[in-house]
Order: sequence, then C-alpha cells, then structure tokens
Amino acid sequence: MSARLLFAAFAPKTLEPANSIGNKFQRLLEKLDLPAAVRDRTVAIKMHLGGGGGFSTIHPFFVRKLVAAVQAAGAKEVFVTDLKRDTIGAIDRGYTEEVFGCRIVPVCGDDESDFRTFPVEPPFQSMDRIELAGAILKADVLLDFSHVKGHGVCGFGGASKNLSMGAVTDAMRQMLHALEGGLVWDEAKCIHCGKCVAHCPNHAMKFDEQNKLDVFYHHCKFCQHCALICPVGAIRMTPGGYLNFQKGMAMTSAKLLEHFPGNRRIFINMLMDTTIFCDCWSMTTPRLIPDIGILAGNDIVAIEQATLDLIDREELIPNALPPGWDLADDPELHLFERIHHKDPYAVVRYLEELGCGTTQYELEEVE
Ligand code: SF4
Ligand code: SF4
Repeated sequence: MSARLLFAAFAPKTLEPANSIGNKFQRLLEKLDLPAAVRDRTVAIKMHLGGGGGFSTIHPFFVRKLVAAVQAAGAKEVFVTDLKRDTIGAIDRGYTEEVFGCRIVPVCGDDESDFRTFPVEPPFQSMDRIELAGAILKADVLLDFSHVKGHGVCGFGGASKNLSMGAVTDAMRQMLHALEGGLVWDEAKCIHCGKCVAHCPNHAMKFDEQNKLDVFYHHCKFCQHCALICPVGAIRMTPGGYLNFQKGMAMTSAKLLEHFPGNRRIFINMLMDTTIFCDCWSMTTPRLIPDIGILAGNDIVAIEQATLDLIDREELIPNALPPGWDLADDPELHLFERIHHKDPYAVVRYLEELGCGTTQYELEEVE
C-alpha cells in the first residue's frame, strides 16, 4: 500500500497572495488533521535551529504558523527542541520563544543528562547502544520539521537525519560519526612522504600533531587518489564507510519512532533553500536548485523518497557549487550523489528494511 503525502508547491500558479507558499502551508496544516493527532497531547517539534553565520534554516514564519496550528488543534503543550548548542544561538536566526509562541527546549536538557539508553544487540560495528533525547521521549507526539539540504557525509539531510543526529546525545552523534570509516591507514608502512595529503583533491586529509593521518570524511569523496598515489600501499579503502553511517542513522531514527506509533509521528520536509551542506555548517551558501515546496505525511520512508525524487527532477542552478566543485559525469545519478559521491537513497532503503514505512507514495497537491 502506498503512503499519502501532502505537497504544497512553492511556485504560485497566479500572483494572488492566497497562492503564496505561506498560505498554502496553512492549508496543508489544515489537511493534516492535527486535532486527531495532538488533542490533549504534548507535542515535540524537532527542528534544526542551525548555527554560526548560517541563516538558510526554516524561516521563523513557518515555525510560528506550525506552533499556532498545533495549539489551535488542542495540544496540551507544544515546544520546539534541538541540541543545546543550537538553542543558544537560535536568536540569531529570529528563533525566539516570543516569535514561536512556545518554549525552546534543549533535547537532552541543559546539562546533557536527560536521555535514555537502548542497547543494540548484537552491536552494529562500533555502535552498541542508542541514546535518545529525553525531552522528545517524554512527549506524546513527535513532529519532525526538517529543512532539506545536501550533506557531505551521507549525501543529504532530511527527516531521518533531523532525528538521528539531532534527537540524541552528543555521545550518540559521535558514535554515529565513528561509523563513517572508509579509509584504513597502516602507520607501520607509512614513510610520511606527504603525497596523500598533497594530492587529495578535496583537502580531506592532514597529519595531526602526533603525525597520525587524520581523514575529514565530510570532505572525502572516496575517490581513492590517496590510496593510489601512496608509494608503499599504506592506505586502503574499506567498503561501506558512508553506508554504515547511513545505516546507523536509520537504526537510530527507527528506535525513536518506535515510541510514536501511527499518527503520533508527523513529518514535514521543507524543500527550499536547498544548500550543499548541513545547517550545522555555520554558513549559508547559494541554493543548489529552485525552491520546490513542502511535503508532509506520517511515513518517514515515503517522505524521504518523495523528497529525493522531487529534487532529482530539478536542474542545478548555474554557479551554485562552491569553487573547485564539479558534478560527477554520470547524469543518471541523483543530483546529491553527483555532488557528494554518496547515494542519498541509502538511508531510505535502510529505513524501509527496518519497517519504518514504504517507498511507495501518492502526492496530494494542496492548492
Ligand atoms: S579518498 Fe579521495 S577525497 Fe578521500 S581522502 Fe583520499 S584522496 Fe581525499
Ligand atoms: S602517501 Fe602513503 S606513505 Fe606517503 S604520507 Fe601518505 S600514507 Fe604515508
């Protein structure tokens, strides 16, 4: 059975204000049947509040409208939540409790002590547990409000990444990043000629203060130049580095979603200001593609699949890539894979395997 998704296109069919994306968002929220999901319940709105000099996160206009709609639908309480570090600078992006009309709460409390641990048995690689944010687990309804963008490590960030990297402890995020793996450096063989560092086209390598090779996987495109140029064979690739990261993220999202069955999980993906990197990158870069619109529904697999499918129909805006970045030649690949060299659909497949939903969907356009 396919999942029903609501879709509001960004571009208005006519220039009447009623057809603007802001007003369509209001109508999309009305179609979501929020009263059935939130009445007399506590609602956690998980969003990425961004950081540093970035401002291409979800516009406060939409957050305010969403909070008001949840309140009008009879919620007992609603709050916006994100990592403690991102709540601190939220005001820079116009994110305040006064603007939102609700509290802004750190996901794991002020001192990172509010979380629950779930063992992973057997462990997945080095991931032996999942630490989920207490503020979200205590809510009755999870509203996953995501800004969609590219991502250097996993190809793209949407609904799943908003949960797996943002509704967990700092330690959990580090555990997930540790899955990235990918390159193995044999210190005993290395003669420290420096060729790997000098020839990495993506400046993803350096030797640290202890003279150990340090790979920054966000920039690494697994091109293998370093492995091929090493004169003594001290670097080799291990398969599935970024795929392990994707799978670990899917497992984490799936564990969180176990706590929010049926209509108590709501996903809204904002396909606008689609930049090359994550909102934690502390900067805003040119958008890659024209603004597409807003998707909403109760199936995380369907919404991620539809998000990627809609993005794949778009052409890259000229001069949108940072200097020195090129698209991979293969036009059959998804735009994000042509940019980041990582299959963005991997996390969707893992989520489906974990029983979180279906890749089959029907779009119902909100006029
Ligand atoms: S695989 Fe390519 S991008 Fe990654 S560290 Fe080696 S040379 Fe750099
Ligand atoms: S190219 Fe090989 S030998 Fe040279 S510094 Fe890098 S890992 Fe070491």
